[in-house]
Amino acid sequence: MKTLVIGIDSASPFLIQKWIDRLPNIRSIFETGAHGVLKSIVPPESVPAWQCFATGKNPAKIGIFGFTYIGRDRHLKFGKTTPEIGCLWDICSQRGIRVGVFNVPGTYPPYPVNGFMVSGFPVPTHKIWSYPNDLMRRLDSAVGGYEIDVPLTKPKNMKGGEKAYLPQVQRLHDKTLRAAELLMEWYNPDLFLMTFQAIDLVHHDFWKYMDDQDSPYSNVLRDWYINMDAAIGDLRKLAGRETNVLVLSDHGSAPVSSALFINQYLESNGLLTIKGPVKHKGETYTKLRKWVLKTLPPGAIATVYKMTPDFIGHRLTESAAIERTLQNLIDNIDWDKTLAFSTGGHQAHIYVTYDLVDKLHPIEASQTRSSVVEKLCNLIDQLTDPKTGKKLSPIFHFKEDTFTGPFQYDAPDLCVELYTENEKIQVNPKLGTKQLWSSSPHFSSIHTREGFWGMTGPSIRQGLELDAGLLDLAPTLLKSLGITPPIDCDGHALDQILI
Ligand SMILES: [Zn+2]
Repeated sequence: MKTLVIGIDSASPFLIQKWIDRLPNIRSIFETGAHGVLKSIVPPESVPAWQCFATGKNPAKIGIFGFTYIGRDRHLKFGKTTPEIGCLWDICSQRGIRVGVFNVPGTYPPYPVNGFMVSGFPVPTHKIWSYPNDLMRRLDSAVGGYEIDVPLTKPKNMKGGEKAYLPQVQRLHDKTLRAAELLMEWYNPDLFLMTFQAIDLVHHDFWKYMDDQDSPYSNVLRDWYINMDAAIGDLRKLAGRETNVLVLSDHGSAPVSSALFINQYLESNGLLTIKGPVKHKGETYTKLRKWVLKTLPPGAIATVYKMTPDFIGHRLTESAAIERTLQNLIDNIDWDKTLAFSTGGHQAHIYVTYDLVDKLHPIEASQTRSSVVEKLCNLIDQLTDPKTGKKLSPIFHFKEDTFTGPFQYDAPDLCVELYTENEKIQVNPKLGTKQLWSSSPHFSSIHTREGFWGMTGPSIRQGLELDAGLLDLAPTLLKSLGITPPIDCDGHALDQILI
């Protein structure tokens, strides 16, 4: 194998540093190669972050803005990887390099490459999730029923709660690791690229226990970093010392303080209008999902999901719950009276409604758009932390600077990271809440732009500490394989680390 890429979804450079003495494999990569903080993209979400990593391009160049998002035509869009966006595995594949793409979020449906592709989440039930097709059966029987995701992502909603949730994450991780080892053995690809999801899962629900020494879960995060480090060690050993190894996260994580109902804020400031009492489509499925999670033993849920017809099974997943929230925005907002709305996310994605602006101010449309964005910034600047009364620290990302490329029109006009000291504010897009804040946010931690990277191997210089951007790594990997990166990459190869 020439190159091994291991993605540790959501891993934080600060937690790695905190526990580095217990992470011998990551430490060895850092000490024998180059490493640093890896600045993720806006928005720091697994999709499009993994696609931006793999192409070296910003979301507006590849036309992917999230797992699910609302297009300018007010229809739901789904971010997915296609050969057209130019991922490094496609570029390598076309040059006859044997590639293996395994468990990368947003790679369903899989497509032909010179090697194999096994889709990462989200994947609907009863669908083909591998190329070649028959690899599914082979993996399934080799690991005792291959699993792509934990079908339930809220431990407190499930039977047995957090205690029962952790073994599900462990089982998913064990199967991912076993499958990765088998795929390397079966195919011996020149470039093998994969992700592990467990750190992201435990971050979201167990971060809050990290400093609580009385909690039985106080070491969950630390132990998962140790667990992940061991997996990196296993795979590196299998790949051999002549292989270049890159480990990275697509973004980092930070604890959450409170949740802001952003559309409520826009509504109370006259920027958004709701048609009437909010109607929630698909409530039956939300209730059914809650009932399934609370009633069935957690070990049986994956099996039940697999057996359920897709038209029901899919609606019971977390991704479908997000789809319903966004569909509710489309259905309930009065679009003739709404100048701006938000779809929430790890950074508030706020859109100005262009058609209304164009209708109201046909001659000065572009100035009006800018003045709406300015008003949004002013409003957000005024927000104070409901717990401390202190002013929040927003970081604004404007469309023109952040998103460049043929799909810029579809991009949000403004993204905002909201911090209160070292904690983040979760931005919830739910409509009709009547209240502005919730003190019990959905997650215990959410994503930040600070991820990590480390690379070692025969082509990599030793001892460099260097902060880099997520978009720099695909050009760097391509160069290390002797391939000139495409000229339309937004990132630049880290020449200083290459021998
Ligand atoms: Zn991620």
